This record gives sequence, C-alpha cells and structure tokens, in this order.
Amino acid sequence: MSSNKKIMVTAALPYANGPVHIGHLAGCYLPSDIYVRYLRMRGRDVKFVCGSDEHGVPITIKAKKEGITPQDVVDRYHGMMKGAFEEFGIDFDHYSRTSSPQHHKNAQEFFTNLMEKDALVAKETQQYFDPEASQFLADRYITGECPKCHAADAYGDQCESCGTSLSPTDLIAPKSTLSGAIPELRNTTNWFLPLDELSDELRAFLESREGWKPNVMGQCMSWLNAGDGLQPRAMTRDLDWGVPVPVADAEGKVMYVWFDAPIGYISATQELLPDTWEAYWKGDDAEIIHFIGKDNIVFHCIIFPAMLQQHGEYAMPTAVPANEFLNLEGRKLSTSKNWAVWLHEYLEDFPGQQDVLRYALTATMPETKDNDFTWADFQTRNNSELVAGLGNFVNRVMVLTHKYYDGVVQEPGVLTDADREALATMTQCGRRIAKSLDAFKFRDALNEAMNVARLGNKYLQEQEPWKVYKQDPARAGAALYVATQIMGIASIVFEPFLPTTASKLRGMLNQSGVPTWEQSNEEIVVPAGTQLGESALLFSKIEDEQVEAQREKLQASAAANEAAKAPSTTEKKQMPQKEDISFDQFMSMDLRVGTILEAERVPKADRLLKFLVDTGLDQRTIVSGIAEHFSPEEMVGKKVTVLMNLPPRKIRGVESQGMLLMAEDGDGSLRLMTPENGADSGAVIG
Ligand SMILES: [Zn+2]
Repeated sequence: MSSNKKIMVTAALPYANGPVHIGHLAGCYLPSDIYVRYLRMRGRDVKFVCGSDEHGVPITIKAKKEGITPQDVVDRYHGMMKGAFEEFGIDFDHYSRTSSPQHHKNAQEFFTNLMEKDALVAKETQQYFDPEASQFLADRYITGECPKCHAADAYGDQCESCGTSLSPTDLIAPKSTLSGAIPELRNTTNWFLPLDELSDELRAFLESREGWKPNVMGQCMSWLNAGDGLQPRAMTRDLDWGVPVPVADAEGKVMYVWFDAPIGYISATQELLPDTWEAYWKGDDAEIIHFIGKDNIVFHCIIFPAMLQQHGEYAMPTAVPANEFLNLEGRKLSTSKNWAVWLHEYLEDFPGQQDVLRYALTATMPETKDNDFTWADFQTRNNSELVAGLGNFVNRVMVLTHKYYDGVVQEPGVLTDADREALATMTQCGRRIAKSLDAFKFRDALNEAMNVARLGNKYLQEQEPWKVYKQDPARAGAALYVATQIMGIASIVFEPFLPTTASKLRGMLNQSGVPTWEQSNEEIVVPAGTQLGESALLFSKIEDEQVEAQREKLQASAAANEAAKAPSTTEKKQMPQKEDISFDQFMSMDLRVGTILEAERVPKADRLLKFLVDTGLDQRTIVSGIAEHFSPEEMVGKKVTVLMNLPPRKIRGVESQGMLLMAEDGDGSLRLMTPENGADSGAVIG
C-alpha cells in the first residue's frame, strides 16, 4: 500500500433491530477499529465509516411484533447502537443511518445509473404471497427447509446454518413468518442483477485481488464454480419499507436491502466529506477495505462488486477481511434466543472495563474459523494476562521510580549487555505487530503487543532493582530507566487494541497526544529526567463469583426467553370433546388411588415403563408408555389414579393390569393425575 492512498475502511452496517452484542464486536467492529487506529498512527489518510441499516425485513418484523412503526424501531436502536460503539471506543469518523435523506438520494441515483446502462433487467416472476396477510413474502418473511443442508429454519434470503444464499422459491415446505400460512405463488415484476452474465468479470476481479483470507476467497470461488454458477438476483422487493424504487410504475416496491446497504458506506462518506468524498471511492488512489462477518461475504464480494462494475465510476474493494462466527459458551450467539452478552449490560456489570472485553475478544477473535467466548477464558485473560502481566509490570515501574527517585526517570549511564538486549528486543515489537496488522492477523498482533509486557516483567525479574538499590542506587536507576522505555513502547503498541489503557499509560508517562507508530522503533521513548505522573490502576482482578453470576444470568435470560415464547394457555390447541356416554358407562369404571412401589424401564422399548402399584386391593403390574416424560426414579412413591377394570393386556411380553391416568396438554406434555392431600391407596374415585 503506497502512502498517498486514500483508505476507506467500512464496518458492516448493523441492522437496527436490537442492541449490539459481543459477536458483532468481535466479528467486524473491533478488527476494523484496531486497524484504523493503527493506520492513523502510521499517518495514513484513512476514513472509517459505518451506520445503522434501517431497512430490511428484520426491522419490519420487529415492528409488527411490538405493534409499533418501523421508524420507531430504528430510532430506538440507532441511538443505542451508536452509544455502545462509542462506549467501547469504536472510533468511526462518521456513524450514519440508511434512513437519512442523503442515503435515499444516493441509492436512488445509483439505481437510476444502473437502469440507464441496462444493467438491471425487469422480469415478471412468480413470488410467494401470503393470502392471509395479503403481502408478498421476501427474505425473512418466509422460512422453510434449506435445500442444501436441510436445516428446518432457513430464511428466504439465506440459510443461517450453512450460509447458503437463497431465494424464497428455493425453500422446501415454505411458510409465511407473518401468519404461518402456506404461501401461494403470484406474478410480480422486479428488477434483477443478471449475475449469471457477470461471472467472468467478477472472476477477473477476484483473481486480481492479492492476499485475501483463504476463508473469504474460498467462499467466493465456490459460488463462481458451483454447478449452475451464479444466478440472476432480484434487487427490488414488493414491500413498503425501504428506499423506493425510482422508476415509473414501481409503486409499492423498494430496493432490496442488500442493494442499498453497501451504498450506505458511500452515503456516509458523502455526509462526512461533502466536497472530497470521491477521492476515497473513485480513482487509482482509493483503497477500499470492508470489515464484515462471514454471513455477508456474498454481498460484499459478489453482489456489491457486480453493482460497482456495472456502474463503472467506482474503485473496486481492495480487501474484504471477513471473520468467521464467535460462539458463546459453546452455543451459537443468537439475538432471538437471547443467548448473548449485550454490550450495554456488560458495562453495567463491569463498569469502566471496556478494554478487558476488547482484549478478551481480540484474543479469541474468529479470524479463520469459528471460535468460542467463555466467561472462564475472559476471567483468565484478565487475571493472568492483563492484571498479572501488563498491570503488574507497569505498577512495579511506577511504584519503584516514585519510591526511590521521586518519580523522575534516571540517566542510564553505561548500559549493560542485558539492557541493550532488552532495548533491542523491544524495538522489534512494533515492526512485528505492524506485519501482523497489515495481514489482518489481529490475534497474532495482540500477542506480540503482550510480549512487550512479558519482556518488561522478565527484565525486572532478572535485574531486581528493588534489591540492587541498597548497594548501587545508580544501577537500580538505570534498570528502571530501561523498564520505563519498555513501558513507553507498551503505551504505543497497545493504543490500537486498548485505547483507554494506552491513554492511562501516556498519562503516567507524562506524555500527551497519540504517538506515531514509528516511535515504537525508537530506543528512547521516555527521556531521562521525565517526571512520571501518578500511578493509575489499569486492571483489577475478576473474581469467580463475578463470572459465575454471568453464566447464571445467561442461562436465566435464555430460559426466560424460551418460556416467553411457549404458547400461552389460550393459544393451545384443545382436543375436541368426545361423544357423550351414559351415566352407567361412567359408573362402570373402577377408578382408585394407587401408590407406585417400583418402577423400571421395559427392555428394548424406549417409551415404556413398568410399575408395581399398590391399589389397596392388591399389588399389580401396570405398563405405561410414558418413559419419554418421566424417569423410573421420579415415579417411585408417587400417588396415581388407576383405571382398575381394563382387561389385562400383554405389552412387550409384560401383562399390564390396568392403566395410569394422565393429563395431556395440547403441546403433548404429560402430568400425573395425583389426588390432592395424598389420599390413601385404595380410595375409590367417582
Ligand atoms: Zn443450509
């Protein structure tokens, strides 16, 4: 990358339909922020934009569910997401939103441009329509079985299980998410991007990219090389929420959200730099880097590039360093299942500890494969790496320099071999980190940064200035001088990763302003004679109870979510009433209270339990098909209702003499019919 480049860094526009969680942060916002902070320190001309994606079906579904307007939904979450990014130091130059007038205007101009070039093809096709909701069912308004991996809940635009991008008509056994109705096909006209005709151009573009991550390039090539190749893709929808299609007779049609969302990056740049935005998007000097999660690869590496190629005036993306997914405690992060760590809630439980989460998430970033965030790992990284590593090193330098030299960095005098080796090692760190960051290897880069703290601790441990001071105060001063230089390097190299901590380090070192990255190559970062500031607490230990509380909170909120989703009693399916019987027929049934004495499984019969029941009259064997609902252990000692005078019947070789009565809910769950106040065995019911 030559240094006169205009670098445009974008982070995926988050849907404004929920708060931000750690998966979002680790997926694209942290890596993009680290990268941009690093480039700024290198003095590069970089702009960093993002914004809320306020269109798309997830928004309208949320609005319908809550009985409010889509605008209400996006207004609520736009502010919330913007605030969360600011709290965690995600330092966008501009955070916009796709409902902005500038964006609507820009997206419509882009669409019109493609229409004028005949790059979009109007086609009448059959689309699914919900007869109950009288609406066409695009994207997430429709679910069904994935034709590829056969997951049960694929959406009309994508299967979240296998990542395949889909059309609603690809789904097996489709169902409307609005009404649950089986949709019917109806004719409608939409505008398509003929990706099938653009394959060669797209292939040439992808093959001209260098240094792309193998997971990203691999996905792109698998689409291009698939048996039936790329297919035309509709760029408009029959919906009432979105950017209106700027074509006559396109009433009731809006742009497909993945048509307008990437254009949102351009709109945000226009808002940021009304006069100079084009330099970052057009011409040979524009370098465009999209940070995204793997579910967005098709949109950023195939569809948006095809749109840009057809438009013709824009530079093509330089890199799309997509991450894989972050899991949480072994399960897929999910907003709808409430299996997530929300940023705003994290801040309530760990106030002021944004950098700890930034550190833990960068260290476990899913760069090349899915990775798992656990609270145990979070605790270990904080306690053994941040507290015992970086925090301990800085604390020792500060405390000893204040104790022996009133906080003044001493002249080093003649350096020893060990001093020179430590200084030489430390000046290599910045270069190594830069190499990793240039290749989007954030975990390696963070580990290299932590090596600076490891070097500092090792150096202090070997030099022991706290012992040496008694015999040779000048030598102790020299050792602390070297340690202070290492701390100075730490204040530089941690800036992209842990900006709040780096700022505290600069305060302690009495330095102001963010340093340049090149300063990390220097042996003198904090000159002798510098008066150090007050020692500040960088990190504090996280206790077992704190992480245990987080795990419990996670389980509880997921369970509450599950319970809230379960159908309420009024919505349950009720069995229709059976035909009338005579009073005599009823009276002929012999119902008694029994007590279960023994219970065991029936071999080779998954559903059957065999009981020995005390009926007051006798002890008899009863077989019941309830093994999927009850374990033998929990049944022993239970009072039950027994229908006594059923003719004995052999079930799997066991003679059953009667029947246990159960209450069955509409959803198939079973409960024992147990007499209140524990009636004795043999009590007659009726
Ligand atoms: Zn699938």
